[in-house]
Amino acid sequence: MRVLLLLAISYLYVLANAHIFVYHRFGDDKHASTNTTLQELEKEFQYFNDNGYKVVKIEEMIKKLNQKEKIPDNWVALTIDDSYKSFYTNGLPIFKKYNFPFTLAVYVKATEKNYNDFMNWDEIKESAKYGTIALHSYGHAHLTHLSPEAIYKDTQIAFDKYEKELGYKPTIYVYPYGEYDEKVFNEIKKFNFDAILNQNSGSVNELSNVLDINRIALVGNVNIKQKLKYTTLEATWMEPKEYPKDNILKRVVAKVDPSIKSIKLYVTGDVWRDIKVKNGIIDEIVNIELKKERVRVILSTDYYHLTSQIIIK
Ligand SMILES: [Zn+2]
Repeated sequence: MRVLLLLAISYLYVLANAHIFVYHRFGDDKHASTNTTLQELEKEFQYFNDNGYKVVKIEEMIKKLNQKEKIPDNWVALTIDDSYKSFYTNGLPIFKKYNFPFTLAVYVKATEKNYNDFMNWDEIKESAKYGTIALHSYGHAHLTHLSPEAIYKDTQIAFDKYEKELGYKPTIYVYPYGEYDEKVFNEIKKFNFDAILNQNSGSVNELSNVLDINRIALVGNVNIKQKLKYTTLEATWMEPKEYPKDNILKRVVAKVDPSIKSIKLYVTGDVWRDIKVKNGIIDEIVNIELKKERVRVILSTDYYHLTSQIIIK
């Protein structure tokens, strides 16, 4: 019995898992909620170096995913959203010092209109010598609120301006605010990006969908060792697919590995609940009143092995 149990448990963890992290601002204490101090950044980078992690270009992970190959556990990719000036002035020198590649997701309108606090095209071109430049939309809108036509148009404008300035087409798209649903995905997909990145905590392994890649946010002082423990729980989500019109999340339905007998459910604003799983099926009436406009629904076996859905009002 014990052997069977061990076999069942080890099956869940047999996939190798790499991690992708998201940063925003660097050494900019005016915006604490999106900032990473330079001391913290060096601490995290030193941790990667001291513990055998390898910071790779995101393209290397994408290639492994496309070839359905195992991704080494010690691989890490670093991404930076929004192309804030503080990346260029404060962050980039440290990435260069450690020789760590990165993916910088450009908020095109902010650069084009010279918004205060954002990098200009020359700075983005200079950054491109050391990393990959991804597309982070034109207007940085909450895309789930837009019509399909408006989502397509925003992406088209961003795509064309990127190509005109950098001389090549963008290959990676990063959702603004990490917000998306089926409608948003269907429009972005039309541009044939090599990869689309979300902001759902989890890991990347050979079962990951290259058009829905998990990234873990790093802000302020973090326990990087703990963040590296996150692994993706393979699941098929049936419900919820979208934000309920009456703000009540009635039911959660998903399919997971049949060896899982119980699971924890977390919904933003609520508490962790224990839920029974029958033959790999989660089907629970929860009736949770949603108070936030942006809600994450998380299923996890142990807080670290998890899958999540984002639903937006
Ligand atoms: Zn952003």
